[in-house]
Amino acid sequence: MTKKHSGTETVPPGEGGSVGRPGSRGAGVATGAESSAPVASESRSAGNASAPQQQFSASSNPTGLAPETGLAHPVQRASAYSVAQEQLNRVAAIMDLDDDMREHLTMPRRELVVHFPVVMDDDSIRIFTGFRVHHNTALGPTKGGIRYHPEVSLDESRALAMWMTWKCALMNLPYGGAKGGVIVDPKALSARELEAMTRRYTTEISLFIGPEMDIPAPDVGTDARVMAWIMDTYSMHRGYSVPAVTTGKPLAVGGSAGREYATGLGITYVTRAMLRRRLGLHLEDATVAIQGFGNVGSWAARMMHERGARVVAVSDVGGAVYDERGLDPRHLKRYAEEAGSVRGYPRSDSMTNEELLELKVDVLIPAALEGQINKENADRVKARVIAEGANGPTTPEADRILEDKGILIIPDILCNAGGVVVSYFEWVQDLQAFSWDESEIRHQMKRKLLDNLDDVLATTVQTDQDLRTAAYTIAIQRIVDAVRFRGIYP
Ligand code: NAD
Repeated sequence: MTKKHSGTETVPPGEGGSVGRPGSRGAGVATGAESSAPVASESRSAGNASAPQQQFSASSNPTGLAPETGLAHPVQRASAYSVAQEQLNRVAAIMDLDDDMREHLTMPRRELVVHFPVVMDDDSIRIFTGFRVHHNTALGPTKGGIRYHPEVSLDESRALAMWMTWKCALMNLPYGGAKGGVIVDPKALSARELEAMTRRYTTEISLFIGPEMDIPAPDVGTDARVMAWIMDTYSMHRGYSVPAVTTGKPLAVGGSAGREYATGLGITYVTRAMLRRRLGLHLEDATVAIQGFGNVGSWAARMMHERGARVVAVSDVGGAVYDERGLDPRHLKRYAEEAGSVRGYPRSDSMTNEELLELKVDVLIPAALEGQINKENADRVKARVIAEGANGPTTPEADRILEDKGILIIPDILCNAGGVVVSYFEWVQDLQAFSWDESEIRHQMKRKLLDNLDDVLATTVQTDQDLRTAAYTIAIQRIVDAVRFRGIYP
């Protein structure tokens, strides 16, 4: 890989696919009201800024908290948080962790729910709901993405924050896990509205973030430009520049070389090593299907393709495309940027997202949202390896079905950790006001990922457990050790 990746492609006006295009507005702007998230409290009185009390009246319990338990009300489908708890409980039982410690690790440390107004382009005022959750701070400040999506919820933020705790611990980073987001479809906002919403959300959560407290990064629906706005807003409040408050920024404002493609490249390093070591298969001989063609999916496609893999299918929310001879990810990305979706790509057959997940390929990379491989479809998955690009794409029921079928799952906290590893490098560079070159970043990231992969593989051999259980065991033990040494305050 040459320098061109860091220079021209890390500063992405319009890059990343998911953030609102300048000047573009979807037809239905009131996306919060349509959200299935338990906390949706959107109600909009267009052009009537003088009746704000009506805007708050949509939800009698906007936090979604059940008062008696402090936990989210049960939702129809398995919630992401209950999946995260189940995963923890299962490994805690294997580790023989005592109940007090298990309960401590199950609960987030802090949660913030914010409702805030934004002046829209038509002068109406719209109320948005956002979250920030810190799961655990035993190892240091918290770290985790900010998501803009109609189905963002407190439940989802809790799950994603917990998974970040394990991921950072597995990678031996001095961080706990956090996550947050806003209930919004960013594609339905103009660029000005997106910026105003980001700056106001940042202001609302500024109590919770900071280089020594909690450092946000991009996730679904956010990108380098959004991180620059968050950094700038936080800095304006302080009166001086604080680049280390976010990672995943453009290079021009303290971003790191290699951060934009780090998750996709890390997935490629880990998958290549795992294919060779567990299946005796070379990446050059492997076929790959990828669900999701945003930051993670599109870079994973490109990095895999450049290392000789045949990427036969990719999808986004609009549908999937397939070419058994292999797609050209760069060309496809240019097409998707212009067309708004991979759907309709001329050199391919179209298929549904469901069909993509069931393709007979060597590697399936879910790189979209949680719960995509579940008890409904796991039995039909025919891939030999699932490389989890997304966070939490496979439910525990699906894990069991896939294991019975002999499918190897490379767990998210190992597979997609390249992003947080390079985010950590970005934070360190910002704190030191010193930048490393791209080859150093890539070398250090690869070393960290493959060293930790060695640890996970060694643990599977010692314990006869699957990769997810081994990765969780290492991560949880590191947190438990830190909690025990620190003690319970006071
Ligand atoms: P993104 O917004 O850039 O892209 C998301 C992609 O998923 C888009 O192409 C979207 O069209 C597609 N998508 C959404 N719903 C879909 C569906 N039902 N079926 C098929 N495609 C669908 O987001 P991203 O940053 O690439 O994140 C993707 C996943 O990777 C998330 O789980 C995120 O938490 C995880 N992740 C991201 C990073 C990072 O550095 N950005 C790091 C680690 C993990």
